[in-house]
Amino acid sequence: MTKINGLLTKIVCVAIFSITLFAKDTLYVGTNAEFAPFEYLEYNKIVGFDIELIKEIGNIIDKDIKVKNISFDGLLPALEAKKIDIIIAGMTITEDRKKFVDFSDAYFSAKQVIILKKDVNNINSLNDLVDKKTGVILGYTGDLIVSKIKGINKEQYNSTSGGIIALLSGKIDAFVLDSAPSKNYIKKNKNLKIVELDIAEENYAIAIRKNQDNLVFQINLALKKLKSNGVYDKLLEKYFK
Ligand code: GLN
Repeated sequence: MTKINGLLTKIVCVAIFSITLFAKDTLYVGTNAEFAPFEYLEYNKIVGFDIELIKEIGNIIDKDIKVKNISFDGLLPALEAKKIDIIIAGMTITEDRKKFVDFSDAYFSAKQVIILKKDVNNINSLNDLVDKKTGVILGYTGDLIVSKIKGINKEQYNSTSGGIIALLSGKIDAFVLDSAPSKNYIKKNKNLKIVELDIAEENYAIAIRKNQDNLVFQINLALKKLKSNGVYDKLLEKYFK
């Protein structure tokens, strides 16, 4: 009996040792699954371009990817508090955010657009938003851009779906949001349209806690590989064509 017990203990020890030896490190990734086609919920599962991209990066840098759904304005605090290791959330590189985090190389360019009801014809630029009720999402780059317009009547929402509902119900006259998710909403709501703006492009990148140069380096190397081996283009094709 003691012999069997001893053998069992040995087997268990070897098993635990092998698991710890061969188990991949986990990279906890924060996102906000309200930004289709980059990240959204499908039958309660977080899916999208960013999610597939980070899983491909995980394969290359040999990390298990675990995605956590967090409110957009909670992402940077969660990173700071080490609840997550990185953020992928269609997050634009801004000077302000760079004070708190490091960014990978950019992986997508975008612009802000104005979403309107189809029958609205008097809004064609950001300046036309003066005196109009304009919806933005709290802390998004759209919020920053709109805040610079003098006389703007800004309504902040916590989610893109909240902003779209407000627009459809007439609570706001216009909604400023990133181009790709806006196009996604237009596809689903035939009585909405988009006004393109003549403003600078923004770049989306992965945010990483400061002083993690090796992780930034590895992620950038993986991004380069995915761009040169065709995987990145396949993802673009899948989510944006
Ligand atoms: N690109 C915008 C920003 O970084 C919006 C991102 C998002 O909603 N996920 O503020």
